[in-house]
Amino acid sequence: MSGSGTAEHVVVIGAGIAGLAAAHRLIQRGARVTVLEASGRVGGKLLPGEIAGARVDLGAESMLARRPEAIALAREVGLDSRLQPPATATASIWTRGALRPMPKGHVMGVPGTAAALSGVLSDEGLARIERDADLPRTEVGDDVAVGAYVAERLGREVVDRLIEPLLGGVYAGDAYRISMRSAVPQLFQVARTHTSLTEGVREIQAKAAANQQTGPVFMGIEGGVGSLPLAVAESVRARGGEILTDTPVTELRREGGEGWRVVAGDRVLHADSVVVAVPAPAAARLLRTEAPEAATDLAAIEYASMALITLAYRRADTALPAGSGFLVPPVDGRTIKASTFASQKWGWIADRNPDVVVLRTSVGRYGETAILEREDTELVDVSRHDLKEATGLDARPLETRVTRWTDGLPQYPVGHHTRVARVREHIGKLPGLAVCGAQYDGVGIPACVASAYAAVDQVYGDDRGVQELTADPVQSLHGGAGE
Ligand SMILES: Cc1cc2nc3c(=O)[nH]c(=O)nc-3n(C[C@H](O)[C@H](O)[C@H](O)COP(=O)(O)OP(=O)(O)OC[C@H]3O[C@@H](n4cnc5c(N)ncnc54)[C@H](O)[C@@H]3O)c2cc1C
Repeated sequence: MSGSGTAEHVVVIGAGIAGLAAAHRLIQRGARVTVLEASGRVGGKLLPGEIAGARVDLGAESMLARRPEAIALAREVGLDSRLQPPATATASIWTRGALRPMPKGHVMGVPGTAAALSGVLSDEGLARIERDADLPRTEVGDDVAVGAYVAERLGREVVDRLIEPLLGGVYAGDAYRISMRSAVPQLFQVARTHTSLTEGVREIQAKAAANQQTGPVFMGIEGGVGSLPLAVAESVRARGGEILTDTPVTELRREGGEGWRVVAGDRVLHADSVVVAVPAPAAARLLRTEAPEAATDLAAIEYASMALITLAYRRADTALPAGSGFLVPPVDGRTIKASTFASQKWGWIADRNPDVVVLRTSVGRYGETAILEREDTELVDVSRHDLKEATGLDARPLETRVTRWTDGLPQYPVGHHTRVARVREHIGKLPGLAVCGAQYDGVGIPACVASAYAAVDQVYGDDRGVQELTADPVQSLHGGAGE
């Protein structure tokens, strides 16, 4: 930025959590900010809603607490007293015909010992894990698919029964396509340095214990994490920022060497700098003229679609197993991918709505779109069918809601990091332009906030933040997404 004395005008395109976090940080740094949002509301994939009188999240619902950005942002915008950890840390996995306790002592499904997965895997599956210690080294090169690498070291059963549903919960993706380097950087580091994967995992666990990484892994917000974008938007507005909804940006052009021209329908804005915080397909369209190479890479990023089915029951009719819910490995052939027992997971939902039990299921993942062509009523029916099989719940819901998230989650296939590095290289050549959001350095809310802050640094001519995002994958822990 030129620093001419008057406040610089920065336009942020997109009012999801990334765009709003960028706007918030820009205002803190003294910029004049205008946020342009295509839809009629702020928040993007964070969406508060209501069912049977209970306020709930209809999109993202929890934030990874083991990295600071999202929690710190919530505190800055006055939500400190509403931060709440889940009421229960136990969950289940519905596999081999029964709900089984989710094992503890693993890193994204990869155990330190075979015994850690007893109960979930068959005896043969457990015996196969033990062979890891005797196998020769598996080369990972510059990147490798999580599924392929772990299957080679520990056998397919660990991948199919545990890693697939856990990764599916974050990316709605396919473990045999997802990049280990981008999605589980800790595992990629140990795969590079260790022959035995289980030994590497034990080392990660020992380090975590030595760093006293205790306390809740995830955090929610009373009233829903959908409150976060609303509070950030309020703070931006209170400090003079402008947020315009129903304002889709259609064109982005450089102006005579300095500054940018942003076109949204018949509205034309002039900006010193622009932060593009929209999903990859929209970013590709906006950048096609000024950054065509970046646009080509962005257009190639694929997305998974899914739907969340929220169901509210009368408490008197409803007995659920203990815990926050369950994951379902695709290999078991069920329709739903997961279920969250929202009233048991979040104390504030139960406290505010003592007579109602809210739970939700999810369907759809990368490459599995046929299910999403079904009517809402059918999605409710398949959810009820699977819930009955898994938990015995047979009551008629008081109310149901289907929320479709078409192209909800960007996919991180092998080589994702090189694609993102190329995008950043091209964007970096254009002064006053930066990008952020879920498709770059992690899909979770804290990762989106971190990418927003790095984009703000870049707008101010400091790309150290961006370098850290891409150069130190261990810091870019993802998590907490999906069910
Ligand atoms: C169903 C679901 C559940 C999830 N659960 C969790 C969870 O529990 N925890 C977690 O950490 N993460 C979760 N995630 C992931 C996380 O919510 C998202 O990755 C994150 O919110 C994305 O934020 P974003 O700002 O990058 O993008 P978005 O939220 O997509 O925001 C982008 C905004 O840009 C706008 N836009 C698009 N085009 C234009 C244009 N031309 N002009 C102006 N505006 C435009 C869009 O309307 C949108 O509002 C979940 C995701 C989904 C889909």
